[in-house]
Amino acid sequence: MKVIIELKHQQHWGYSIFYTEDDKLTIRVRRQPPLLTLPHLTIAIDAGHGGDNIGARGIRTNIKEKDYTLLIATELEKVLRQKKAKVIMTRERDTTLSMYERITYLKQKNPDLLVSIHLNSADKDSVNGISTYYRYIGFRPLSQAVLRAMLQTGLKEYGNVGSFNFALNGPTDYPNCLVEVAFLSNKGDEKRILNPKFRQLVAKKIVAGIEDFLRRSL
Ligand SMILES: [Zn+2]
Repeated sequence: MKVIIELKHQQHWGYSIFYTEDDKLTIRVRRQPPLLTLPHLTIAIDAGHGGDNIGARGIRTNIKEKDYTLLIATELEKVLRQKKAKVIMTRERDTTLSMYERITYLKQKNPDLLVSIHLNSADKDSVNGISTYYRYIGFRPLSQAVLRAMLQTGLKEYGNVGSFNFALNGPTDYPNCLVEVAFLSNKGDEKRILNPKFRQLVAKKIVAGIEDFLRRSL
């Protein structure tokens, strides 16, 4: 059987499919938020890694990915709060959290949108730049808008990648996007990541990307 659901808005805002106790297969389609501006939305931020899970290491300085994802996430939180958005953080400290714990927490908080922050790493130290990821095609516009805005930081474009097997791109309940800000394995990118001014700029541009996505979704 094939079910086609026609939506009123061009941008779908997520759905869930589940069985109820009386064995009914249920599809719940999430309504697009009535006001697509930050003061009316709850934005979730996930700082990648944390605690025992260190992530990648800086090529020159050996800095830990988990520390810098949190620094960027905290800057992002600041900018979003200045713009009067409600913000949810999966972690605010150096906490060990499994993907399952993050997803469960997010499901319970039910945000309007999620951004996950990571830093990339490659075997070849010449590889550099910004990339964004999504799993389901319906959420591609968010990751494209964030990538476009992030290019204004001066980072090279590494790409926008779909069908990506990242746990937090898995939920279909709300639009979500993974941002791999830059490469810790590249000297130039690492230098940028170490600079607080650059991290502030990254936060501003991610928010600009979210706002662009919201405008285009009207
Ligand atoms: Zn990572």
